[in-house]
Amino acid sequence: QACAGVVSEPRRYDPLLDEDVANRDRIENALFGALERNEFSLVYQPKVQLETGTIVGAEALLRWKNNELGNISPATFIPMAEENGLINIIGDWVLAAACAQVRVWRLQEVATVPISVNLAAPQLRNDSLVSKVTGIINESGSSPQDLKIELTETSLIQDIESSAERIEELRTLGVGIALDDFGTGYSSLSYLHRLPIDVLKIDKCFIDEISPDSGRGRLVKHIINMAHDMGYEVIAEGVESPYQLEVLREFGCDIVQGYVYSAPVAPNTLREMLVEQPFENQAFV
Ligand code: C2E
Ligand code: MG
Ligand code: MG
Ligand code: MG
Repeated sequence: QACAGVVSEPRRYDPLLDEDVANRDRIENALFGALERNEFSLVYQPKVQLETGTIVGAEALLRWKNNELGNISPATFIPMAEENGLINIIGDWVLAAACAQVRVWRLQEVATVPISVNLAAPQLRNDSLVSKVTGIINESGSSPQDLKIELTETSLIQDIESSAERIEELRTLGVGIALDDFGTGYSSLSYLHRLPIDVLKIDKCFIDEISPDSGRGRLVKHIINMAHDMGYEVIAEGVESPYQLEVLREFGCDIVQGYVYSAPVAPNTLREMLVEQPFENQAFV
């Protein structure tokens, strides 16, 4: 998908481009019963510290498998769920499942890492978000430090005043906040310094064409420096090649997520990775 550049139009998802209306209806109808039928699961993608090859976190990503429809991508069903309101209960399930997973790893005496959960715009607009998150953490027997939240620019900017407040409350609780997909939304530099976030995730589209002497490469370098100046940690998303790792290391990027280390994996596979880490750092070869 297109990389927007620093100032641009927000990207809009139009499901009608992918699915005909009938198919979309089938998917949406199935989506209404998906939780009840236990069709959701989470996979986890490691976040790897570039310096050391150590796993410092993992992102929980939702998977949906339906008997008739097969596997359906979150890029298809999350926007639907945002529109029809289902995202609120699906989102609760994701939060609870991620926190429960941390608890399981702890019981298995695995040295756990914080799990990042993606939050959609309607969840952020919900007045009871903070008390809900607190409740889920307490019930699962995990702690706020076990959980991080990823928000997109687009969802943040929709209601920046009240969401900034809510995010601040989450941070006070001890839940870290990351700005996801940076560079694909409005990316207005004028609000960036006002956001109460801890981490900036540079979108894959920037990483795809990274090289030290391309325009886009220089842009990434400046984004990293700027983010560090503001006190944010920087994650590069969608890193696929050792060359990209090398460039990102040169630029001083902190953390990397991408197929170069691992695709999202089942919980047991991540557990094995946590036991066997660090990754051999291909950027050093
Ligand atoms: P995202 O949060 O930006 O997640 C990153 C996406 O990039 C994931 O796709 C991940 O599998 C994929 N990815 C990671 N590394 C690479 C790589 O090296 N190369 C390539 N080509 N792709 C890579 P996925 O799992 O299909 O999720 C797509 C989007 O759906 C997510 O983007 C997020 O916006 C949304 N999503 C997924 N799970 C949830 C959820 O539980 N709640 C909400 N609200 N949204 C979710
Ligand atoms: Mg994310
Ligand atoms: Mg992202
Ligand atoms: Mg993305």
